[in-house]
Formats: sequence, C-alpha cells, structure tokens
Amino acid sequence: MSPVHLQLTLPGYRIIRWESNTLMRVYVEALEAPRLCPCCGGDRLHSKGRYERRVRHLACFGNPSELVIGCRRYECLGCCRSFVQPLPGIMPGRHSTEPWREAIYERHGDGICASVLADREEVAPGTVARIYAQFTERKAKERLSLDCPRVLGIDEHTLHKGMRFATTFCDLHRRRVFDISAGRSEAELSSYLASLRGRDRVRVVCIDLSNSYRSLVRRWFPRAMIVADRFHAIRVVGQHLMRLARQLVPSLGWNRAWLGLLRARADRLLPDQQRRLQQLLAAQPALRPIYEMKEQLCRLLRLKTQTPAACLNHIRELLHLISTLRESGLEAALTLAKTLSDWTEEIVRMWRFTRNNGITEGFHRKMKLIQRRAYGFRSFQNYRLRVIAQCG
Ligand SMILES: [Zn+2]
Repeated sequence: MSPVHLQLTLPGYRIIRWESNTLMRVYVEALEAPRLCPCCGGDRLHSKGRYERRVRHLACFGNPSELVIGCRRYECLGCCRSFVQPLPGIMPGRHSTEPWREAIYERHGDGICASVLADREEVAPGTVARIYAQFTERKAKERLSLDCPRVLGIDEHTLHKGMRFATTFCDLHRRRVFDISAGRSEAELSSYLASLRGRDRVRVVCIDLSNSYRSLVRRWFPRAMIVADRFHAIRVVGQHLMRLARQLVPSLGWNRAWLGLLRARADRLLPDQQRRLQQLLAAQPALRPIYEMKEQLCRLLRLKTQTPAACLNHIRELLHLISTLRESGLEAALTLAKTLSDWTEEIVRMWRFTRNNGITEGFHRKMKLIQRRAYGFRSFQNYRLRVIAQCG
C-alpha cells in the first residue's frame, strides 16, 4: 500500500513500513496524538505504554489489507482516568476501518448476497449482515425528518407476510418517501400521526378515493386541501365500467385481448388495435356507450394545471357525465356515479395540480423489491429503516 493510497482512503496516518504477501500488512501510526483528556479536558497526559491495533482495510491491488496501528494508552493526571487513543476513521472497538465497512455496505446493497460477499472477504456472513444493518440505520437517521412536508401523498401497500398493510407518507414535492407506518386504519395510525411535528404546515394531501383516509386527513391535517389522486381515480372508473361491460356482454368474460382493447387509451392504440376495437364495438353495440363514457371520463380526469375558468367548464361536463351514469339505472354505473359525486370537490382540485401518487406508486414498486431481496421482514422497524435509507 503506497502512502498515496492510504492518504486517499484513510487520511490521518503515517506509514512506517509494510509487508506484502497474499495479505498486505501495513504498519502505521496516527499523525496526531491526543492533547486533551476526553473526560475532564485536562492537558496533563501521561503515556501508560504502547499497544497494537489490527484492523481490516480496503483491498490494495487486489490483495486484502490489514493495518497494524501503533497506539498508546494514556492516563490523565487531572482526573486519574485512563483512556485509549481515538483513531481517525476507526470506531472504538471495531476490527475494521469505516471505508472498508462502507464498501461492504455498498457491495451488499448492489446485490452481492451476504454469504458470497462473506466468502470473498473472509469474514462471517453475520458480519456482513451486521454492517449492513448499522449503515442502514445510520443512513435512515440522516434522512429521517420529523417535520411534515408541504405536499404529502398518502397511500397503502401490503407487506407480504400475513398480508399486513402499511401506509406510505410520501413527500411529493421533493419526490421522496417521508415515512412509512404499520396499518392503514385511523386507529392504527393515530399514535404515529400524533408524533409528527408541523402537521399545520401540510398544505396539500393527495389520497386515493378512500373515505377512511379522507376522514383521517381532515382530522390530523386540518389545514390541508385534499386532492384526489389521478392514478386511482382513473383506475376506479376503469374497474367499474369494465364490470358493467362484463355484465351487459357476458361473452366478454375474461377475454384479455378484448378487455385490453377496451381499457387502453384510445389515442395510444396502434392502427391494427384500432381496427380490432372497432370490430368488437360493431359486433357488440351495447359496449359502445360504455366505452365512450370511459373515454370521456378518463380524458377529464387526466387534465392538469387548469385555470379556474377552465375548471368551471370541466365541472359542468363531469356533472353531466355523472347524471348520465345515474340515468342508466345499472348497479355498477350507480356505484361509480356515487363515488364520483362524493369526490367531486377533490377531483376539481386535482385539475389544478400536477403532482399525484404516481410517485408513491413508484416507491411501492421499489419497496416490493426491498421486501423480496430480504425474503420478507419479520420486524417492521427494520423494514422501515431500509425503506427510508433507500427511498428517503
Ligand atoms: Zn481527565
């Protein structure tokens, strides 16, 4: 190990000599000796003798390396306590340097599994797991903030084991996960919500069309505007109208090709798909009004950053579509009409904004990968730390 290499990876040491074999062993000492007692701050220190500390360090030219550090134990003549010399880049009691531990954390994070990494580095798999947990906790602490963001997205996701639910709180403005909490009902979330600081700061909360989240937001974020989530609103429309289509045309069944054509956005269909859709609508005339209703509703729901004047027109159009749904008198259409009229206010606000829980859904995908890579979590706290470290 050259002095330059050591300087770059672990500054604060002077190399005395090195032995190079399959293991690179470098004898070093710290550049600075302690001047003050850590207990009382006194400067009358007396050396109690030398000792050596051996720690793992980053590989050098492909060979593992070990630092042999000449240290001293000191006694403070002021308070009569003895202490060991603090070393830069090495935590008390550790047998490896912080750069080496960080490299282990990053390589494990990049996808090298603990047992393979442990084999390569000639340490126990438990050591890799421990280092990973320590760094995750440290990173999560750096990123975890207690002050609520101004634009919050709230959505639920599942934890595979036992199909438990968790609620994601996402900072939609900065596009990061603010926090996650176990459960999805108000009773489960209330103690967490009570611990948050600055709930008055939250101006906008984006939620799916769920009444339980709406009452939760009204109670816990009294100054926030509730905005319906575009992604979920469009999905609800699609689900109800497809159910209606299947009731009216039983032969549709679960034919994925047909359902796919009906679900897709009309302007995104290829010419061939357009042709097949027109054939389907010609063969089953009952589907046409449903399809047109879906297209009109989804076109309305996709609008964003509209002016207040434009919103007025859209409201008229939406109310007209809702009354058309009601007039049909069919059960699925009535349910959809009820949902849309319950949420009209939140949908109107949605037209004024661009942010939506698409960001949160993206993080849910990443959370699923985190769950999968860990083969499930037994402890919710460990899962939470990992999510905040990687998505926060
Ligand atoms: Zn002292």
